[in-house]
Amino acid sequence: MKMTNWLEQLNPQQKKAATHISGPLFVVAGAGTGKTRTLTTRIAYLIEELGVAPDSILAVTFTNKAAREMKERIVEMAGPYATNTWIYTFHAFGVKVLRRDIEHLKMGYTVNFNIIDEDDAKAMVRKIIKDLNLDTKSYKANAIRHKISLFKHLNIDYFDNANERLVLEKYTHELITNNLLDFDDLQILTYKLFDEHQHILEYYQNKFNFILVDEFQDTDHLQYKMMKLLAGKQKNLFVVGDPDQSIYAFRGANYDNAKFFLNDFKNEDGSKAEIVLDLNYRSTKEILKFANKLITSNKNRPFSKSLETDLGNGLKPFIWSAQSDLNEAQMIANEIETLIKDGGYKYSDIAILYRNNALSRSFEDVFMKYNIPYVLYGGISFYQRKEIKDILAYIRLVVDPNLDFYLMRIINTPRRAIGPTTLNKLQSYAKEHNMSMFDAIDSFDISGKTKQSLLEFKTLILEMKFDFQNFTELGKVVDYVAYKTGYNQMLETDKDEYSEERIEYIKELKNPFVQAEAYYEGTFLEKLMQLLDQIALYSDLDRNKVSDAVVLSTFHQVKGLEFKVVFMTVMEEQIFPSSQSFMDLNELEEERRIAYVGVTRAKERLYLTRSEKRLLYGALIYPRPSRFLKEMMPEQEVFTKKGNYTPQQSTSSNYLKPGDSVTHQVFGKGIVVSVDKDIATIAFSMPHGIKQLLESHPSIKKN
Ligand code: ATP
Ligand code: MG
Repeated sequence: MKMTNWLEQLNPQQKKAATHISGPLFVVAGAGTGKTRTLTTRIAYLIEELGVAPDSILAVTFTNKAAREMKERIVEMAGPYATNTWIYTFHAFGVKVLRRDIEHLKMGYTVNFNIIDEDDAKAMVRKIIKDLNLDTKSYKANAIRHKISLFKHLNIDYFDNANERLVLEKYTHELITNNLLDFDDLQILTYKLFDEHQHILEYYQNKFNFILVDEFQDTDHLQYKMMKLLAGKQKNLFVVGDPDQSIYAFRGANYDNAKFFLNDFKNEDGSKAEIVLDLNYRSTKEILKFANKLITSNKNRPFSKSLETDLGNGLKPFIWSAQSDLNEAQMIANEIETLIKDGGYKYSDIAILYRNNALSRSFEDVFMKYNIPYVLYGGISFYQRKEIKDILAYIRLVVDPNLDFYLMRIINTPRRAIGPTTLNKLQSYAKEHNMSMFDAIDSFDISGKTKQSLLEFKTLILEMKFDFQNFTELGKVVDYVAYKTGYNQMLETDKDEYSEERIEYIKELKNPFVQAEAYYEGTFLEKLMQLLDQIALYSDLDRNKVSDAVVLSTFHQVKGLEFKVVFMTVMEEQIFPSSQSFMDLNELEEERRIAYVGVTRAKERLYLTRSEKRLLYGALIYPRPSRFLKEMMPEQEVFTKKGNYTPQQSTSSNYLKPGDSVTHQVFGKGIVVSVDKDIATIAFSMPHGIKQLLESHPSIKKN
C-alpha cells in the first residue's frame, strides 16, 4: 500500500499529528484513540514521503515487544529501508550510547561492560550484607536494593543508617571494579554523558532530527530530562500519552512531565503544542461505558475526557462470581473452550489479567489440565532460570575471565569441591593483589587438593577460550559449553524431578544463538557480545513464541496492547485495589488507573471475575468484591451471562447442604447441620462431635 493510503486511513486529527513536521508536539488522548498508530505512521511518513534518513529518527517505547512491533509496522509501511530507525526502550537506547562513549565518564568503565539484571543485583547486595557481617534479619537484601535504586535514580535518601550506606558504597564499588552496569546505570550514566559532555550531547543532538516517545505518561523525570537534552537544539520532540493510564508512579514516573513538556516546548507563537484525539477505535460502547464510569471516580485527572466510539454497542461486560479461586479458573477455562469452539475466537485473542504475578498459578494449573495453550507474561522468565543463567555465566566468563561476578556464580557448578570459604579467601587475596580472581588462582596459597581443583577450573576456561577462537558459528556455542563444562552430565546424573526439564531449557537456549547468526554483523566474538547484551535486556514478553496461546499477564505488562476478549480476574478488595493502597488516595487512584488500563484493553468481550474465597500465600481469605466493580456498573445491577452459552458446572466442587451425609478422612461419618458461606457445620459421632469445616476441603467426601 502507498504511504498516502496509510495516511488516508487516519482521521483528520490523527493525520494532522502524523504529518506534523517541525517543532514539538504532544498528542494527549485516551486509550485506544490511535496514539501509537499515529506515532508509527508519522515515522513512516517522515521516511517515505519526506526522505528522512531512518537512523536520524529515535523512537522510544516501554517494552521490547512494543519496540519490535513498532519496527514491523514501520517496515510494512515504508519498506525494509526503514529498518535502521532507532526504535528502542530507554534501557536499550542507553546500552547503545554507552557502548560507544562510556569511557568518557572516566569512572573506570570500558565499552566492554556487562549488564546485570535485577536478580543478580539483589544477589550482589545479599553477598555484601553477608561479607559485612550484618544481621540478615534487619538488613534485607531486597529492601536495601530498592533503596539503592531510589537513591541512584531519584536521589532520594531512604537509608536507615550508616551500614546501609556502606552497602551502597560497596555495591557501587563492586559494579565498577567488575565493569558491570545495573539497569539503573543504563539510564543514569547515559544521562550523565549527555549532561556532562557537551561534544557527545551535540553528536546525538545533530544525529537525531526527530525524537518520538510513546506512553509518555509513564516516563520518569530522568527520562524526561534526557529527551529534553537530546531535543534541545532542534526541538523536534513528539510525545504521545494518556494521563489516565499512568501506572508507574511507584517507580518514579511522574505526570508532571506533561506540564514540563508544555512549558519547555511551545509553538513558535507561544501557544501550547498539543493535539487531542477524540475517538476510540478499539472497544465497543458497552465496554467504554465501564471504562468511563470507573475513571470518573479519580479526582486527580489533568486531562479528563470520556472515551467515545463509533463501533456498535456490543456485549455488556460479564460479571462473574466464583466459589473458590480454583472454581474461578475453571469457569474461565470452560468459557475459553466455548469461545474457541462456538465463538470463532483464537486462543491468542484472549487475555487473562491479574494484579500481580503470584496470582497466575491457579490459571496455569487449570489451563494445563484443560490443555489450553498459554504464554505467561512476567513471572519467572526463561532467562531468569538457574540453568540458563549458569550457561550464560560460563559463556561470559570465557569471553572475559576477569569477570569475578560470573566466576563466583559457576566455579562450583557442577561441584568441584571449591566451597564458599575458599572463594572468600580467593576473593580477598585477589583484591589485596589488585587482580581478578581468575588471575589470582596461580599464586593463591591453599591446600593441595583445593588448589588442584582451582587449577583444573582455570584450565577448563582457558581451553574453552582457545576453542572459541576457532569457532565461526554461534549455533554451536551452547551445546559445546553444556558439554565441556560437565553441566549436562551433572543434570543427567542428578535425575531429580526437574533435570529433564532443565536439559530441555538449555536446548531451547540454542535458538537465540542460531537466530543471532543472521541477525548481527561482525566476527564471531562481536556477534556473541551483541547477543549477550540483548539477552541481558530481554524482558519476559520476548519469549512469546507460541503463536496461538492465551495470554496470562499482569495489567502492567499489557500496556498498549489489545485483545478481543479480556478477563479481569481476582477483582477483590485487598488484592485489587491492594490493601497497601487503602490509606493513600494517590495510591488508590493509581490502582484505579491500572484497572482502567485493563478495561480499555478489551475490544469485544470483557469479563470481570472474582471469587468468594481464596487461598493466598497459604492462608484462606474471604475477600469482598473489589470496589472497582461497583464503580463501573451502571446501577447496582448484576449481570448474568449473555450470549449463547453458559459455563459448564465445575465438576470438582462438592458443595454441601444441610442433611447431607459425609465421610471425613479423620472424623469418619457425619451429617451436615448447616452451611454458612463456605463453612459447613458437621456433626460426627463421638468422640469427635460437632466440627466447623471448610466445605470443599478434600478430606470431606459426600456420601
Ligand atoms: P493505548 O492508549 O492503549 O496505547 P492507543 O491510543 O495507542 O492506545 P492504538 O493502539 O494506536 O491506540 O489504536 C487502537 C486500535 O485502533 C488499533 O487497533 C488501531 O489499529 C485502531 N485505529 C487507530 N486509529 C484508527 C483509525 N483512524 N481507523 C481505524 N482504526 C484505527
Ligand atoms: Mg498505544
